[in-house]
Amino acid sequence: MDPAVRFGIKARYPGACGLCGAPVAVGERIFQLPKKRTGAGGRWVCAACRFPDPERVIDVAFLVRKLEQRLLHGPSYTPTMAEVDLIVTVMGYVDPLEEGELLILRRLQEAQLARRCPTFGRAKVATLLARMNAAAPR
Ligand SMILES: [Zn+2]
Repeated sequence: MDPAVRFGIKARYPGACGLCGAPVAVGERIFQLPKKRTGAGGRWVCAACRFPDPERVIDVAFLVRKLEQRLLHGPSYTPTMAEVDLIVTVMGYVDPLEEGELLILRRLQEAQLARRCPTFGRAKVATLLARMNAAAPR
């Protein structure tokens, strides 16, 4: 395994995690995702994305930031199971849902039953982002 994948490096520039968009300060440890997960380019991510952290807080603000990151830098968004559960919960509190949103919700509910994370393209990410933004506390 590539050392940058296993051990990471210290960030030389301030930036953002390539997956969740968390701010990364100079000197913070960042990791490269295995190429099979991201394609040839690789991707630099924060520690909590490289080695999923059960303590990590997955809330609406986190979702909004991650969806923005996925929309800007693409190509797609594959939510973790915790994110799937949260999105389904949030969508349960808003009505009425539009047809596009209902289709997304149905896919997420199927994913919950199958315990398999779906992948969404840009258009659906934009729809999800709008919905999560509307639900985010101000
Ligand atoms: Zn991250």
